[in-house]
Amino acid sequence: MKQIPYKIYLEESEMPKYWYNLRADMKTKPAPLLNPATGAPMTAQELGGVFCEELVRQELDDTTPFLEIPEEIRGFYKMYRPSPLVRAYCLEEKLQTPAKIYYKFEGNNTSGSHKLNSAIAQAYYAKMQGLKGVTTETGAGQWGTALSMACSYFGLDCKVFMVKVSYEQKPFRREVMRTYGATVTPSPSMTTEVGRRILEAHPGTTGSLGCAISEAVEAATTNPGYRYVLGSVLNQVLLHQSVIGLETKAALDKYEIKPDVIIGCAGGGSNLGGLIAPFMRQKLRGEADYRIVAVEPASCPSFTRGIFAYDFCDTGMICPLAKMYTLGSDFIPAPNHAGGLRFHGMSTTLSQLYHDGYMEAVAVPQVEVFQAAEQFARVEGILPAPESAHAIKVAIDEAERCKQTGEEKTIVFGLTGTGYFDLVAYEKFHDGKMTDYIPTDDDLARSLSKLPKLR
Ligand SMILES: *Cc1c(COP(=O)(O)O)cnc(C)c1O
Repeated sequence: MKQIPYKIYLEESEMPKYWYNLRADMKTKPAPLLNPATGAPMTAQELGGVFCEELVRQELDDTTPFLEIPEEIRGFYKMYRPSPLVRAYCLEEKLQTPAKIYYKFEGNNTSGSHKLNSAIAQAYYAKMQGLKGVTTETGAGQWGTALSMACSYFGLDCKVFMVKVSYEQKPFRREVMRTYGATVTPSPSMTTEVGRRILEAHPGTTGSLGCAISEAVEAATTNPGYRYVLGSVLNQVLLHQSVIGLETKAALDKYEIKPDVIIGCAGGGSNLGGLIAPFMRQKLRGEADYRIVAVEPASCPSFTRGIFAYDFCDTGMICPLAKMYTLGSDFIPAPNHAGGLRFHGMSTTLSQLYHDGYMEAVAVPQVEVFQAAEQFARVEGILPAPESAHAIKVAIDEAERCKQTGEEKTIVFGLTGTGYFDLVAYEKFHDGKMTDYIPTDDDLARSLSKLPKLR
């Protein structure tokens, strides 16, 4: 067997030329988005009022397996891709495990996460359509940062609605976005109808992702030449993120490595959907089998405690309805939750796959997540994003189990980004001020009671 290097890089010529559309191989397709007013599936024309044309085509296409990555996007990818697939030799050594651990590291770009993979694609299609700019929301700020980088590359205007609490607590992210020319507005704001409505109903609110989405959609539909873009959850985003999994698979194949377990954190599901894409393809086609594990925070447990139903994607209830694992659109994780992954719903594609038994999910409490993050940082050198640390936690647990059983499993996990902008959360952890708040069944029942009633 070939000696496995610390980092497996692909040659430029080995980088993916096509994205892979997982839906093409699913027997049960994800349920369509519905118009909240009529309950009928959203048409391309209706979606086109909010999203870019080509992205609508991608969103609705559940039959074409491979889509060529445009030359310009591949050119941009080359600035920061291929991303390394790292053999975690130091972590294995530290854990004294017979397991072999690999991680795909997506934090090697200024935005610090995988989100740039889709941001550049979405900005490209907006540019091709001749638009002036795009609007979006951002929570912790990774998506807004990635999108402002992508927009400045193509000379597009970028309006970001940033959840107010993050706007105030994460001034550095805000300044990165402004460096790339984006306008950043704390949400809820007085600049939109829905923002004013929310502020009137909840004066002093520090905002939520669902609320910022409502504002960004309104800004896109009321400003001529603008469309709305979203950094996760949607099928098109999973499609662009398939570049993560395709590179991972190519790197593993190069050394004839077959993973047993593939682990990723799940917020809206885009990095996980991307990482598992080519592996899930084999699984769906009966060509190979893998254990696939989604990791979510115990404080926002969409897969493990949510229900599979049509729900709103935003608080303002103006976005299409999606059939997904959800905690209810007005579920907001406890204020002490610092680990990210706070969206109430989940990608429709991953929801369907989970429902059909193709993957597992586990929820982990945040103190243990930060313990895993610190353990990882100390041996592997990288300071992980709290989101990514959810995957680290479960990979370590799996490796510890292998130590007990003596199994030499191969574990692959997604290390989605770096945590330099999350040091307030690390500070809380180091000061022993971090706590776990796990929603009660009553909390969940309350937000789930507001699911839309479909005719
Ligand atoms: C946004 C983000 C996530 C979660 O989003 P998904 O769409 O579930 O991938 C995970 N890690 C990092 C670093 C992020 O920025």
